[in-house]
Amino acid sequence: MPELRKPLAADGLPSLIGADRAGLELALAEIGEPEAKRPMRARQLFHWIYCRGAASFEQMTTLSKETRTRLAERFSVARPEIVVEQQSTDGTRKWLLRFFDGQEVECVFIPQDDRGALCVSTQVGCTLTCKFCHTGTMPLVRNLTPGEILSQLLVARDALGEWPSPRDDRLFTNIVVMGMGEPLFNYDGIAAAMKLASDGDGIGLSKHKITLSTSGVVPRIVQWGEELGTGLAISLHAVRDELRDELVPVNRKWKIAQLLDACRAYPHRNKPITFEYVMLAGVNDSDADARELVRLLEGIPAKVNLIPFNAWPGAEFTCSSNNRIHAFARIVEAAGYQSPVRVPRGRDILAACGQLKTASERIRARREAAAASSAAASTPAPAPAAALH
Ligand code: SAH
Ligand code: SF4
Repeated sequence: MPELRKPLAADGLPSLIGADRAGLELALAEIGEPEAKRPMRARQLFHWIYCRGAASFEQMTTLSKETRTRLAERFSVARPEIVVEQQSTDGTRKWLLRFFDGQEVECVFIPQDDRGALCVSTQVGCTLTCKFCHTGTMPLVRNLTPGEILSQLLVARDALGEWPSPRDDRLFTNIVVMGMGEPLFNYDGIAAAMKLASDGDGIGLSKHKITLSTSGVVPRIVQWGEELGTGLAISLHAVRDELRDELVPVNRKWKIAQLLDACRAYPHRNKPITFEYVMLAGVNDSDADARELVRLLEGIPAKVNLIPFNAWPGAEFTCSSNNRIHAFARIVEAAGYQSPVRVPRGRDILAACGQLKTASERIRARREAAAASSAAASTPAPAPAAALH
């Protein structure tokens, strides 16, 4: 039996955002809807929530007034609280969302000519601690529910005014699962959310327009391909295990060779796998690294995305020079792989890759640093060892 989702709205009521048709039927059973009518009512609810984007039951005018009232007494379709909304000079938009328990995540919309991608988060913080990633420094971590993941899509559609869903000229055309968190460590949450996102009766974004990025949770990669079949991106970042163990700690568990075997076995590979490679000056950006990358990718339909390192306060790396990045790209391209250099978007609002960390976390980190330095200033210097005797 599918479960109804935990409360999500500030009113503490269980949210129906994230429920599939079976979940909606359960909700209807709870409000006493006769069994024979539930499948049809569930279809109507599904349409209102995911195709029309209704944010209240009141708007669902094909349901009787009584049904709407009973639903509103027990459930919610409210969005999470939008704590901050920012817009970059390049048009990138970022939302800081707060959920029912006070936890927050960010999501980012990146417009591009006649299309645009929403970068969604899957966890509060991240289970992993990649050295170059700001999200990885957040101490608080929990998985987002399917509804919390989906609500990021609904918030973006609300802001862009793109309801009802299936429209040809929409700006929000793609999803990249590249926000906060390691999606394959929240497999059930992201799988349920992406199944709903790609449902043609609802949000209706095709699986070909969805790309999931993983740092390399090997046992889940092929499973994802079989069950969801979306585009796949791998955060590679290093071509030797010793270095990758340091930069991307999940590599200590699943090595590069295992990761690439999973890529070779990935189903639905009509679309090349994207390998993401963050350019860190003097760390992973030599010609020898580029040549080794080409050797590793042998036999995999691949594209290499070179990501200029986006700095954040306290990061221990710098970005490779433009010349170095282009020299690296030339070696990869000469081997027949596309190797675009990603143009950072939304840097001025800390929305670029790896910069996501919620404002409350940034404020907390600043406070803790200030408290630590004032404590150090007010604590008397330790007495010399001789004086202790
Ligand atoms: N956790 C997933 C998805 C989110 S990160 C993953 O790691 O794949 C999205 C991409 O941004 C990843 O390739 C990640 O390695 C990269 N990234 C992280 N920090 C970065 C930074 N400071 N500069 C540039 N890219 C970064
Ligand atoms: Fe997590 Fe991805 Fe950041 Fe690594 S790069 S800490 S897996 S969000």
